[in-house]
Amino acid sequence: MDFEAARARLIEHLSSEIGDKRVLAVMARIPRERFVPPQSQHLAYEDSPLPIGLGQTISQPFIIALMTEELELTGSEKVLEVGTGSGYQSAILAELVQSVVTVERLPTLAETAKRVLDSLGYTNIAVHIAEETLGWKDEAPYDAIIATAGVPMVPTDLLAQLAIGGRLVVPVGSRYTQELCKITRRKKRNKVQNLGGCRFVPLIGKGAWEE
Ligand code: SAH
Repeated sequence: MDFEAARARLIEHLSSEIGDKRVLAVMARIPRERFVPPQSQHLAYEDSPLPIGLGQTISQPFIIALMTEELELTGSEKVLEVGTGSGYQSAILAELVQSVVTVERLPTLAETAKRVLDSLGYTNIAVHIAEETLGWKDEAPYDAIIATAGVPMVPTDLLAQLAIGGRLVVPVGSRYTQELCKITRRKKRNKVQNLGGCRFVPLIGKGAWEE
């Protein structure tokens, strides 16, 4: 299969709705086929989520592009990702910012993602196994935070790890469907925006869903 041609077609498709050229350029060079199981590689450039094992999914490319764009990254940021999964989103972030801290609850997924990210040569991504508190407090504050699993309400533990002026993008709603929320942290009143409907696996843990 010609992955390069398929990737170019996907980016062309995304460019009708995604305005941030840097996001599109990065997605045009990262091999998504390396982040999906061998039996799904032929589907790597469909604009849809795919199973990655253990009941988890690599998100739909359009949603990934939208969330990344909404983080408003310029290059100097330290970003936190909650839900490493396949590592694909981590790779996109790593090409757009200074450093990425990514946290995963399932050690098997974290190890596989780390192996793929290492083999692609990324040196600015730290993969951690999740602790009891959501996110990764040790490295806070972050300029931007992306949660790639859904929560019942915006987790205060994640907001607390966001710098003033920073952006948190997180799917908020029921266990099965959510609205993509963007919260810009401000000194007084945070700004909250709804970016539209989405469907993510649940974020499991204190301040989110039970297993
Ligand atoms: N960003 C991923 C998508 C991952 S799916 C990608 O590009 O492939 C969401 C992931 O969040 C799953 O792997 C799930 O195990 C993980 N997750 C669920 N609860 C979590 C928590 N509390 N902390 C960290 N990761 C969590």
